[in-house]
Amino acid sequence: MAPNPHQWLCDKFGQYYATAHPWVPRGEKREFGFGGWEKKIEFRHLSFANEQELAHRLAREKPLYVSVSSAYYEFPAGRPMAQKNWQGADLVFDLDAEAHSCAPFTCVECFEKIKSNAVALIEDFLLPDFGLAREELQVSFSGSRGYHVRVYKKELEPLGREERREIVDYIEGNGLDFNGFFSDEEVSIDAGEHGKTSKYAKLLGPTPQDGGHKGKFARDILRLVKDAKTAAQVGSKLKDPLEAARFIKGIEAGRWSDVRINNAKGRFHDLFERLKLHLSEKVETDANVTIDTSKILRLPDTVHGGSALVAKTIHGAKALDAFVPSRDAAFLSLSKTERVKTLRAVPSIFWAGTSTEPLEAEKEAELPESFAAYLVAKKAAVPLG
Ligand SMILES: [Zn+2]
Repeated sequence: MAPNPHQWLCDKFGQYYATAHPWVPRGEKREFGFGGWEKKIEFRHLSFANEQELAHRLAREKPLYVSVSSAYYEFPAGRPMAQKNWQGADLVFDLDAEAHSCAPFTCVECFEKIKSNAVALIEDFLLPDFGLAREELQVSFSGSRGYHVRVYKKELEPLGREERREIVDYIEGNGLDFNGFFSDEEVSIDAGEHGKTSKYAKLLGPTPQDGGHKGKFARDILRLVKDAKTAAQVGSKLKDPLEAARFIKGIEAGRWSDVRINNAKGRFHDLFERLKLHLSEKVETDANVTIDTSKILRLPDTVHGGSALVAKTIHGAKALDAFVPSRDAAFLSLSKTERVKTLRAVPSIFWAGTSTEPLEAEKEAELPESFAAYLVAKKAAVPLG
């Protein structure tokens, strides 16, 4: 008889929890939640005295989802919430891939895009603008499509919702006065032998050395112009390498009109909107993870029931750059196989370095164990045993 897909996944997860000991700093002060086949959070208000206690419970119950609060409480298991006595919370960011046609699977482009957002959050904001140290950050794969960044810093723990919203607004550039980036200077130029003069506005703007959003914008524009493939996005004249070089030299000195670009300010504004870091297109939900100080989210280094991948902690910028979820977050074998029957058509997916064959609906297939578990977790296939 074919195994029950939920039980089959739990058994797989049990192999992981037999040896894994996921935990977070001061875990004994936090609220945990477990989820199963139907719901990502079925039970919450759980608390554990230490890593071993949690490890025993995970090995015994093999939940499909494990979440933990960013908040610290005096009584983490207290309910309702007010009984817990909130003492502070880490600053957390949830970067998720926006809706795309690849759902419920995730294409390489979506993975790369969300990864570059995570890198931008860390390298362009948290480290330089907030003065945080790399050691104060924990970066983990969400287990699904995105990344979580947790900031552990005493001074940030007491921040309330409003202060956290301001941090999100700063990072997303909400309410920024873009026009204030530039100033126009009326300049007369001599047109030459006929003695006629014409006037044009010289546009002065940020330099790449500027702090905050101004400098980021100047650096973003330079990055686009220095790449022959993207230079024309800034202005069609910049396809010409000589013009591009002139433009670059100007911006380095804060002169944004050395190469005349039609409707330059409007064009720059559009680019600014496009280049701004959105914690997600679904800003409402994901900014909420940062703002809501009693939210629980995936415990790093536990398995995600919607992908059978581990929400792995990623150590260092290089590791994040090189991170490939299907390869680096899989705990099941690539060489061992499992037989499954598809419930729906499955497109070719980039899996651990190779592209899988597309699968038709209602077909039996023998697949690498980690990919089979991924499809079962996605409810796109059932195990045949
Ligand atoms: Zn996609």
